[in-house]
This record gives sequence, C-alpha cells and structure tokens, in this order.
Amino acid sequence: MPLSIETNCLHLENEKDGDSVCSHYSSISFPIYQTATYAHPGVGRSTGFDYSRLQNPTREQLEMLICELEHGTDAVALSTGMAAIALLMELFKPGDHLIVDSDLYGGTIRLFDNVSLKNGIKFTRANCAEDNLEALITPETRAIYIETPTNPMMNVTDIAEVSKIAKRHKLLLIVDNTFMSPYFQTPLDLGADVVVHSGTKFLAGHNDTLAGFIVTNRPELQEKLRFLIKTTGSGLAPFDSWLVLRGIKTLAIRMEKAQSNAAKIARWLKTQKSVVRVIYPGLEEHPGYKIMKKQARGFGSMVTFQLDTTEKALSVLERVRLIKYAESLGGVETLITYPTTQTHADVPEELRLKNGITPQTLRLSVGIENADDLIADLEQVLN
Ligand SMILES: *Cc1c(COP(=O)(O)O)cnc(C)c1O
Repeated sequence: MPLSIETNCLHLENEKDGDSVCSHYSSISFPIYQTATYAHPGVGRSTGFDYSRLQNPTREQLEMLICELEHGTDAVALSTGMAAIALLMELFKPGDHLIVDSDLYGGTIRLFDNVSLKNGIKFTRANCAEDNLEALITPETRAIYIETPTNPMMNVTDIAEVSKIAKRHKLLLIVDNTFMSPYFQTPLDLGADVVVHSGTKFLAGHNDTLAGFIVTNRPELQEKLRFLIKTTGSGLAPFDSWLVLRGIKTLAIRMEKAQSNAAKIARWLKTQKSVVRVIYPGLEEHPGYKIMKKQARGFGSMVTFQLDTTEKALSVLERVRLIKYAESLGGVETLITYPTTQTHADVPEELRLKNGITPQTLRLSVGIENADDLIADLEQVLN
C-alpha cells in the first residue's frame, strides 16, 4: 500500500534500499553535503556526483521528496520560486505564445512582461477561471500557465477542464501550486504537465529560506530541465535544501492548523462592519468552492479581504502587533500584505484594478498561532 502524504513528508518510499547516500552512520536527519565537487574513483568512473551545480546529494534528496509528494517523475530544486519560473521559460523559443492567467503572483507578471517578452515570447492574459481559453489558442501557442487559487484574488480554475483543452491542442499545462502545496492539491494527477513552486512558502514553511521547484511527469521535459539547471546554474544550495527538507517534515500538521485558523478568521472577518468583502475559497459563497471540493483536499490558509476605505486598510497595516506587516506567505507566522505596494507593485495599475486588487485590499497568510490571539489582534485594529 502506498504511504500517505503525512508519512511521505518524513520518509521517502524507497529509503530502505540500503545504499542511499544517508546510510553511513544511519543518521535520521539527512546530512548537508557542503561540497562543491566530488573525487572520481577512476578515469571514466563517477559516484554519480561530479560537481554541485549539476547535482548534490542533499539537493537530490529534496528533489526526490518533492517529486514523490507531487506525484511526478522528476523534480528540480532551484534557488527561488522566480528562478524556477525563469528556468521554465527557457523551454520556449522566440515566437512561442503562452496563455497566462491575468491574476498571478506579481513577480511572475514582471518576469513575463519585462524579460520573457524581450526574449520573443508572446503572452495573452485571460481570466482562466472564466474565459473561453480555446478561442485564444493560435498556431504558435505552446502552453497555458495558471495559479489556482490565484495570488491574491483567489480565483479558482478547474485544472482537469483546462488540461483537456491543453491535451486537445498539444499544449503544456503549467500550474503554480504554491498556495495549496502538494498536501492539499496535486495538479499532475488532474492532467497538468508541469508544477512550479515557490518553495519559500508552505513547503519550507518557516520564513527562513528561499527555494523553488519544477516538477513534471513528462520524460522529454525532464531531460531538458536537467540540462537547463546544469547550464544556467540556479540549483538550490545544500544548506537551503536541508532547511526545506526539515520544513517539509511538518508540512501536514502546519497546513491543517493554518487552514483551520484561516477558516475561523475568514468567518470572523465577515462579521466586521468595516470589512466589505472576504475572499476565501473555503467559504461556501466563494465561486470556486465547488471546484476546490472536487480538485483539492483543502482550502489553504490564504485569506484576502477588502475594507471600506483605503485609510482603514493602511491603518490595519500600521497597527497590527502580533500579525506582521510583511511580504511573503506560507510560513508558521501570520503575515499581512498590501498587494498594491508590495507583491503586485510592478503590475500595471490598470491590470491590477481590473483584477480587483484595489487599494482597500489586504492579504493574510494565516500561520499556526492560536486563532483567538490572531482575531484579538485584528479586533484591536478594526474596532
Ligand atoms: C512567492 C511566489 C513566487 C515567487 O517565489 P520566490 O521564492 O519568492 O522567488 C511565485 N509564485 C507564487 C504564487 C508566489 O507566492
């Protein structure tokens, strides 16, 4: 019987095969192989490790773990989420066209608009949760790129439905799975071809390191990605790989606790006079609720909400105490973000407003503190 995800976060399925690099000394914690290079046992012979830009045992252990959690056939670990998405763009050539969701992480939009476009890649933005994507496909279209739920507006796209369109037109379906993590959602099982992650967020989980991942179940992509990481050199360092391995040990309990806190806070926010809208896919009135029930095992812990005035929104950021006003998400500490000037500052204002990111919009990444303590902190700023 395959192991469940809680167990897999701590134990790789294949770790019993006595020759893993960890078998010396039987250490429970995987060692940090802080080495740049490896000696060869003879001419034309290799231990499988030649140079740490290509491969490193600690990084490889983490890659095997991410691959297993996301149900892929290969995963690569990179220095940041943006390094992962930038590497992925190297799969495309000038003239290629991508359909991308219009509400994405701000850094991804900045990459597409300022770097990929200059490299000749063309983009059409769409609301992938609602628009007829088939009508946007051209002979040059190579991929569809989505987040679900999106950052920060929490739009939910039906991955299986979009994957049918992608398969019909031989396009790659790429899903940024950062918000859900493999604990709650495994897009490859739903027909996606590639999953990307900011490992900085829920996977690492402690607001203490940056990381990124690309996972696929397509052998031809696997080989290209391995070639690209070796050539461009953005692989994750051994110590950071170890930090993410350690973070993932508690992924299951962190995700559950953060989610139950988020649900409680979302319901409480709805009762507040100055809060005009609460966007959390675990609320039954959320338009993506039914799709989430079908394609995910939970709703996550990201809650976006809108206040009645900009002044109120800014005063929340000024006056929270326990909750920290900071960029990033997915860590054990609760953070509050102002997308307008932080994560989405480089998104053109017109697009930002069109996506619904108003100056009254705040985004909470709910952590694992006591929910009532978090509510008390919000209460003292809202009332
Ligand atoms: C943070 C984030 C990224 C970028 O990851 P970094 O690790 O910060 O480079 C990409 N996608 C999403 C959804 C994110 O939240």
